[in-house]
Amino acid sequence: MAKAVRRALVAGNWKMNGATAQLKEVRLLAQMLEGVRLNCDVAVCPPFTLLSAVSRVAAKAGIATGAQDCHAEASGAFTGDVAAEMVKDCGASLVIVGHSERRTLHGETDAVVKAKADAAHRAGLTAIVCLGETLEERKAGRTLDVVSRQLEGSLPSVALPADTVIAYEPVWAIGTGLTPTLKEVAEVHGHLRAELARIAGGQRSRGLRLLYGGSVKPANAAELMAAGDVDGALVGGASLKASDFLGIIKAYM
Ligand code: PEP
Repeated sequence: MAKAVRRALVAGNWKMNGATAQLKEVRLLAQMLEGVRLNCDVAVCPPFTLLSAVSRVAAKAGIATGAQDCHAEASGAFTGDVAAEMVKDCGASLVIVGHSERRTLHGETDAVVKAKADAAHRAGLTAIVCLGETLEERKAGRTLDVVSRQLEGSLPSVALPADTVIAYEPVWAIGTGLTPTLKEVAEVHGHLRAELARIAGGQRSRGLRLLYGGSVKPANAAELMAAGDVDGALVGGASLKASDFLGIIKAYM
């Protein structure tokens, strides 16, 4: 059977960082990418407050934008929440759902994450569905069981290569400077690929992209990309500065 060709995606998650001044980093990134033939897709996910402004600047350079979360409902009495439709209205094409900080700090279950991923699809957005084990779970040898459970519970009702991306982010690697070995990354990605075939169907799942996230930097991006079945990166801290983010993008060019 022919190997599925998957175009890499490098997505930056700014988390709760950046005010208007941070727009200069997107302008810089757009300048740096001008005229460059990219072999990967690039996306920036700023806080909601910057989504429209970042989308306007990024669109000119072919950089996609996304939100870091959305509500499952399209509208209603949900003070402080933002619907997927509103994210789309800001010019974004993606939304991250189920980031470990949402799962841990906001008690989001797999069912909540799935509802948000379905909402993303309803609004015409691509869902980046995050999952990953804690250090305790890894030490207990439960990593593959945990990611299987999260994948099965969080995957949207229909997951197609054009509208769904999976991001494997070991919780203990996020923002810590720690990364799994390449063997560990390849083991989890290989497992997720097989699980996707079981859950979503072989043909359909072969085109789904599997990103790695957790302390990706310019210095380690190329070697992480070379680990088996890695189709790009979800980048937190190192996406805030255009020069660092570009250093990571270069590993995928
Ligand atoms: C993230 O928050 O998704 C992330 C991967 O963070 P960092 O790159 O800072 O570890």
